[in-house]
Amino acid sequence: MAFFEVNSLGKYFGGLKALQDLSFHIDKGEIYCIIGPNGAGKSTLFNCINGLYTPNTGKVVFKEEDITGLQPNDIAKRKIGRTFQNLELFENMTTMENIMLGRHLHMKAGLFSSSLMLWRGSAAAQEEIKNREQVEKIIDLLELQAIRNKYVSQLPYGAKKLVELARALASEPELLLLDEPAAGLTNDEKEELVFWIRDIRDELGITIVMIEHNMQMVSEISDRVLAINFGKKLIEGSINEVISHPEVIKAYLGES
Ligand code: ADP
Ligand code: MG
Repeated sequence: MAFFEVNSLGKYFGGLKALQDLSFHIDKGEIYCIIGPNGAGKSTLFNCINGLYTPNTGKVVFKEEDITGLQPNDIAKRKIGRTFQNLELFENMTTMENIMLGRHLHMKAGLFSSSLMLWRGSAAAQEEIKNREQVEKIIDLLELQAIRNKYVSQLPYGAKKLVELARALASEPELLLLDEPAAGLTNDEKEELVFWIRDIRDELGITIVMIEHNMQMVSEISDRVLAINFGKKLIEGSINEVISHPEVIKAYLGES
């Protein structure tokens, strides 16, 4: 049984088949990249996996559990995290506060208990210590010390993308879905992101599924690549197998 798998997934919007009979699996510890032209169904796939959309057909199976159709917070509790193609941060909160929000799943005592008077040794205080430690670990890993107390609204775009990644990590996912994490980054930032993503896999042991357009990055980082178009699988394999496939070349030529 695979660590994660999608079987015959279909998602329809009226007459539009955004996903059709899509099947693939991912092994634990892989960096699995998904490519395809705009409108191919990539973000729809993530939305079906993390519960924002309910698929019309097929199944999503994670660690042998059928998680199809569960609500987003139930998916998150099963340790699937994600970032969004368009940033979904709280601009009027600091970096630290945004990352702490990623911990809310783990806070039995409630989000705002930290601001109440906690007696030392209480369960809530212990939980708060654990939350802080986890957040500090992520701040260290992604080197966010310099911006930890800055408001997100004041940060450049590249830094915001990192804060979103940090927030997703704060929920301690085992599977992390990244929707175009490099879009809008400078070349230097893209190089850096390749290192962060490898670190996340190697040091935290997180399996990564990444939608990405930048083929240079995909070739540097991916273990396997899936190409889709019109919601269907074109081919799956190594980056070289995928980018030399006639259907993939046709799909991309058609786009420009
Ligand atoms: P990609 O991420 O590969 O660029 P999307 O998954 O965002 O593509 O979109 C795939 C197709 O599904 C597009 O034609 C898009 O317009 C359509 N689509 C996505 N979400 C919705 C929605 N909520 N309602 C209607 N159509 C949608
Ligand atoms: Mg998309």
